[in-house]
Amino acid sequence: MSDNHSVEALTTILDSLDALVYVADLKTHDLLYLNAYGRRLFGAADGRKCWQTLQTAQAGPCEFCTNSCLADKQGNPNGVYVWEFQNTLTHRWYQCRDELIRWTDGRLVRLEVATDITDRKEMEQQLHEATRVARELAHTDELTGLNNRRAFLAYSEQSLKRSSRSGGVVSLIVFDLDFFKQINDQWGHEAGDKVLQAVARVIHPLIRSGDVLGRIGGEEFAVTMAEACHDQALALAERLRKAIAEIRVPYHGHTLRCSASFGIATEAGREIKLSQLLLRADGALYRAKDDGRDKVSSAN
Ligand code: GH3
Ligand code: MG
Ligand code: MG
Repeated sequence: MSDNHSVEALTTILDSLDALVYVADLKTHDLLYLNAYGRRLFGAADGRKCWQTLQTAQAGPCEFCTNSCLADKQGNPNGVYVWEFQNTLTHRWYQCRDELIRWTDGRLVRLEVATDITDRKEMEQQLHEATRVARELAHTDELTGLNNRRAFLAYSEQSLKRSSRSGGVVSLIVFDLDFFKQINDQWGHEAGDKVLQAVARVIHPLIRSGDVLGRIGGEEFAVTMAEACHDQALALAERLRKAIAEIRVPYHGHTLRCSASFGIATEAGREIKLSQLLLRADGALYRAKDDGRDKVSSAN
């Protein structure tokens, strides 16, 4: 094969590739070569720099430029550097394979071969989103949007483990709406649902972001407070009790009201068991009910 013929063959191959191929100077960022795939997307190199041609809105060499990853400390080629990137101009995703090669004049230059992986990326993102939604649905109580019982127990266990490790103190508040059956009996299940939603809406903003709130039964809720002593739990329970007592739910020209009774259990140390805390808080809750409801009671 003559020299001319082999250059022509090579050009034909490079311009037929279903991938972007370019070569750029390491220091000046001058674009030394761009194959047909690249020219179709970005236009001819025409003496422009890589950051002016292949990207948009760059005031200089791109901050995500991988040149510094391509050489070792002595400045020798480091092998192929593979990364994935969403192009700022085409907004399509590419798998980029970058490496240093010797150019025709002997200097080291940057070679990139990039293949379009947008379809795969989109599928991955859809899968990621679907997984996130499924996980969220599995953890969320449909009626109130709060953690369901399962999620509440799981997140509380995690929180307890963290606190136990540091020998910290943990408080648990459980509360149950008073005479809730009467609301259902008098106004119907839908009215009861609206009250439960109103309760969730009112209590949610009162909970610290590090605490775990959940609807753990029909009209029963709970809050796990990591690093909270009994007095802090008592203060929150009182705030919740007052906020719930102030709820007014308009329903077909009527106004529905509700109240709740609270039980608190607090424990410190390294061996705190959630089941024990729940039992003790439940016991306190039943004393609050016995005591006339709309009350807060603490476990001994
Ligand atoms: P107490 O003050 O002793 O707690 O009385 P109560 O009437 O609240 O207690 P009880 O356990 O007898 O009644 C709870 C009621 O909550 C019974 C059940 O029908 C109702 N309930 C449970 N889950 C839901 C729900 O998702 N929606 C509605 N509307 N009602 C529910
Ligand atoms: Mg009840
Ligand atoms: Mg109940």
